[in-house]
This record gives sequence, C-alpha cells and structure tokens, in this order.
Amino acid sequence: MFEPVKVVLEDHEIPREWYNIQADFPHSVPPPLGKDGKPVGPGDLAPVFPMNLIEQEVSTQRWIPIPEEILAILTKWRPSPLIRAVGLEKALKTPAKIFYKNEGVSPAGSHKTNTAIAQAYYNREFGIKRLTSETGAGQWGSAIALGCKLMGLECKVYMVRISFEQKPFRKIMMQTWGAECVPSPNPSTQIGRKILAEQPDTPGSLGIAISEAIEDCVTSKDTRYCLGSVLNHVCLHQTIIGLEARKQFQKINLYPDIVIGCAGGGSNFAGISFPFLLDKINGREVRAIAAEPAACPRMTRAPYLYDSGDVAMMTPLLAMHTIGHTFIPPPIHAGGLRYHGMAPLVSHAMREGLIEARAMMQLDCYKAAVLWARTEGFIPAPETAHAIACAIEEANTAREEGKEKVILINWSGHGLMDLSGYQAYFDGKLVNYSLPEEELQRSLAALKGLPVPPAL
Ligand SMILES: *Cc1c(COP(=O)(O)O)cnc(C)c1O
Repeated sequence: MFEPVKVVLEDHEIPREWYNIQADFPHSVPPPLGKDGKPVGPGDLAPVFPMNLIEQEVSTQRWIPIPEEILAILTKWRPSPLIRAVGLEKALKTPAKIFYKNEGVSPAGSHKTNTAIAQAYYNREFGIKRLTSETGAGQWGSAIALGCKLMGLECKVYMVRISFEQKPFRKIMMQTWGAECVPSPNPSTQIGRKILAEQPDTPGSLGIAISEAIEDCVTSKDTRYCLGSVLNHVCLHQTIIGLEARKQFQKINLYPDIVIGCAGGGSNFAGISFPFLLDKINGREVRAIAAEPAACPRMTRAPYLYDSGDVAMMTPLLAMHTIGHTFIPPPIHAGGLRYHGMAPLVSHAMREGLIEARAMMQLDCYKAAVLWARTEGFIPAPETAHAIACAIEEANTAREEGKEKVILINWSGHGLMDLSGYQAYFDGKLVNYSLPEEELQRSLAALKGLPVPPAL
C-alpha cells in the first residue's frame, strides 16, 4: 500500500517571522568585545555591516518579521519538504521514525541560500551597492553570488586558492550568477600582495580570505562585507527551517524527540533547533544534538572562551567554544565544518544545557552518506553526512531500547559538487582523524591574555 512520505506546506503557510532565541535564554549572551576588552557597540561594526543587520545582530526581540520581498524569493523553493526516511529506517531495522528537512532543494544546493537572500536584501535596503565575502569550498560563495544577483548588487568573492584550483565547479556557479570570484591571496588587495610576495606558492586559508574581503570592503565605496555563518543574524535567518518543520510535524500530529544538525559555524544547526528549544525552554521535552567532526571538536572538547573569528584578528572577540584562531583545521572533506570557533548563540545554548554535541569520525560519515544515498536516493554533502551518521547512532540506540523515537535531521545540502570526496572514500584514501590533545592545547595557548567570559 502506498503511504505518502512527504509533509509539505503551501506557499502561504511559510513562516512570516524569524525566531530570535536571544529573547528567551535564561541568561544573557556575553557581548562581543573590542581589542581594548570593552563591549563593541553597533557603531564599531558600521564600516563592515549595514545598520539594519547590526540591529538584528544585537536584537532581543523574540519575533522578527520577514520582509515580503524575501518571502517572495524564498518561496521559489520553500517551504522545503519534510520527508520520512523510510528506506533508511528499513535498512536499519529501527522502530524510530526518521524525518529530514531537505535544504538541498535551494538553487545553490544548501541552507546557506536562506541567509544569502536576506543579507543581500538588507544591504540593498541600506543603500549598499556591492558585497564582498570569502569562501572555502565555495558553498557560501555560490549562495551569496545568487543572493546579490537577485537583489541587484555586485559581488566579489575571495576563494581560498587551493579550492579555487581544485574545485572549479563552485567558481563556475558564482560566475554564472554574475559574481567575481578570485583566488585568495590575490594581488588586488594589499594583504594579498604582501602574502604573495612572501609565499608565492601558498595554498591560501579562510583566515587570509576573510582579511582580504574585509580590506576590500573598508577601502571601497558603497561596499559591505558579509558572512555565511557564526553571527547572530545568520542563525536568525536560518530559523525558518525549524519553524517550518514545527508546522509540518503539527500537520501529522507528531513531535520530534531528537533534533540533529551538523555544526560548522553553527548556523544550520541553530536554524533547525532554536524553534524547538523555545518549546524546551517552555517545558517540553526535546533533545538537540550538534554533530561536529572529531578532527575539529569545538563543543565536545574545546573550552568556552573569548576568541577572534579570524586568523588576523580583524573581527571582534566573540564568546564561544573555540579551538583558537591560529588553529588550521586538518583537510577533512567536509570543508564547511573546518572552522575553529562556533556560533556564540549555539555555544551559549550549550552552556545553558539546552543542547548536546557529538564528535563524528570521517569514515563513519562517508559510510552513513553512502547508505543514505542507497536507501533514500539524495546524495548528501559531506557536512550533512555528520548529521546523518549521528542520526543513525540514535536510530540504532532506539532499536536496542525498543523505543519508537521520532528523529529529525537537518539535511543541510546535497553533495553533487563534492563527489571527489566520495571518490577518495571509495578509493580507500580517507582516514579517521581525531584532533590530538597536545595540538588542541598548543592552539589554545595562543588565547592566553584574552578576556574570559564570566561564569553563568
Ligand atoms: C556550510 C555548510 C555547513 C556548515 O555550516 P553551518 O553554518 O554550521 O551550517 C553544513 N552543511 C552544508 C551543506 C554547508 O554548505
């Protein structure tokens, strides 16, 4: 007998407001600090971000209306479907019901498009004509290229050189959407020229690319900088995912016991979990698990400290779980999860005891990704595979305990541009890697002397 596996919302049922968890945390989030150790005010951020986004960054208003023009674009692919992973359930012989929110249906192929559209909109509303940003593997670069084009802005993306050379397809996507994508370090910036003079063969890094994008922003007319994760307003824009999922579960009279997302900078995990954490704060039982790579264990092993968001320390100090800004993450294939810090809002949710974290091994993630592709069809991004591997562990536990749990996965993006990672897995070239304790301690030593966030 045919039983539908998909829960859909009509366009008119799309959420009209984002959810701001800052309104509901039992304790307030420690503020970002300047180099002088004093809290950073909105004015300090004005050269880099437009004031309307800075207002969202510091807002404690619970519900923030989503402008109509953004909704009109989001409904090209939203509300995204909630799908029951019946094929995977069968393969695992689990009594658990596994659902996934498919964010791979967006034009750029991941959840990042949600905030790219919103950020381009607010910049244009503020009178900005051009955005600069950086990208590692290219997922954010392609999303913001699309956002800028649809909102009529110019866009320049500094792409880490090694990815620029090894992964041409994301660059071609950016070009297709009309953005200028250049390898970083780049001779068009002062810092880029300096680094190229010293190390002509450098592969580049995310830290260098951030420094170049910020330099370009502050030295160009009508230009601002933007970021695809970590910041409060980015997490805010992603809450549309969890708000839709909550409505979809209501339609089928279910509620998840466990909500799982992978965590790079933390934005897709925030997006799916924060609306459920609102229920949790109000007394409902629900677990939320952030799945991170064992190679880059922020919330499972690293302390909660003040640290900079980039290697050159150009950003304010943020209170977060961090391995230290000098940390160069090992080249695991989940490029989007290779970051030294974690969104302050996600880090704070951890402190408040609202969420859990789990470290996943690379080979388990690829094994899970392949099982997923062979049972559900869609090929996940290597980042998404971390959430899948974690969900499989929970589904196996449910089988052992004979419990009919409901598990929700944020399926953050498809892996069709990341097939070389799959190739390396099939060729037996990938290994498991857990960050050695000495290396973690060495990296943390660089944070000595920085302010420390107060205890709760
Ligand atoms: C960028 C990316 C991530 C990680 O970023 P978050 O901000 O932690 O969500 C996860 N999945 C996909 C598909 C991505 O592109």
